Amino acid sequence: MTLFPPSDCARLIVKIGSALIVSPDGSVRRDWLAGIARDIAARRAAGQQIVVVSSGAIALGARRLGLAKGGRASLEDAQAAAATGQIALAGIWSDLLGAEGLTAAQMLVTIGDLEERRRYLNAAATLDRLLTLGVVPIINENDSVATEEIRFGDNDRLAARVAQAASAGAVILLSDVDGLYDRNPTLPGASHIASVTRIDSAVEAMADAGSSSGMGSGGMVSKIAAARLANAAGVSLAIASGRIAHPLSTPARHTVFVAPAGAPARKAWLAGGLTAAGAIHVDAGAAQALAEGASLLAAGATRIEGRFARGDLITINGDQGPIARGLSEYDAVDAARLIGRRSDEHAALLGYAPRAALVHRNHMAYLGDVAR
Ligand code: GLU
Repeated sequence: MTLFPPSDCARLIVKIGSALIVSPDGSVRRDWLAGIARDIAARRAAGQQIVVVSSGAIALGARRLGLAKGGRASLEDAQAAAATGQIALAGIWSDLLGAEGLTAAQMLVTIGDLEERRRYLNAAATLDRLLTLGVVPIINENDSVATEEIRFGDNDRLAARVAQAASAGAVILLSDVDGLYDRNPTLPGASHIASVTRIDSAVEAMADAGSSSGMGSGGMVSKIAAARLANAAGVSLAIASGRIAHPLSTPARHTVFVAPAGAPARKAWLAGGLTAAGAIHVDAGAAQALAEGASLLAAGATRIEGRFARGDLITINGDQGPIARGLSEYDAVDAARLIGRRSDEHAALLGYAPRAALVHRNHMAYLGDVAR
């Protein structure tokens, strides 16, 4: 990703830090947000799908409730502030995107929702559906219940996890810094780093902990941690300043952490690593569709082997043996009910709303493409 803002990826995650959303006096920075909504509309019109990870709930709620230390004096304060601020934040996004003719959807998640495999599949499926429906998901951490995450959590890392779940091509972290410097940018002689291809200890040593605005929880340390997570999933990540109008439409100084070439770690993990809990055998048509990058549909499955649970790793076998590995959207019993059946029969066979596939292509590694 050399261009900024990146226009060459189908799905882009944009994380917006608290200080860009709430001014120090507690008011919402509506004009700037309206500009971002316009940028998002332009990108949507050009065919790019956008997911917003929006901070600002705690900052906004704390000021509305008159809480000390920006609502971060105690966990209870932060949770009350988040609950109060989030409802206002959602309303603002819905209004501003609505004014651009776009529909907003809110998803509140915890890090656990994106890390625990069964829950991860749920979040990923919802995101995928929202995006294909043309909606702009607005995501934040579910701070009012997520006790651990609220202490350690920051939306930088959340954005990287969301990128992985949404199979996005890139993440932009917008905050009040325009990237990474070789030392604290307030020190004389600090120089800006335009691109990082390897996150090593020298890069980590450049980062100062702590949020420079004091409003959010993410400083450069959490941004580098986010870059590491994103890069491991094959996703490039850019840090850029949101202290300009229309930051998604204006070329500006930034730091990009370039994802390494080759199979992302997750695909590599799916392809090797753990022992599979079972297998789904498929016919020649399905084998061909998988080779072309499609999801595994029940219609092409011929036999289920083993006792696996939803979210377990399974192998997909063709005539000649394993051709892919992936996470099953169903347990073995329900998968067996669906094999050979068309999608429009699934709801009646299961008695509940079905998934789009037995194994979604985003959670599958085709064994032929690992080395690519
Ligand atoms: N989720 C927090 C909020 O909405 C922000 C976390 C962060 O600062 O990164 O206020």
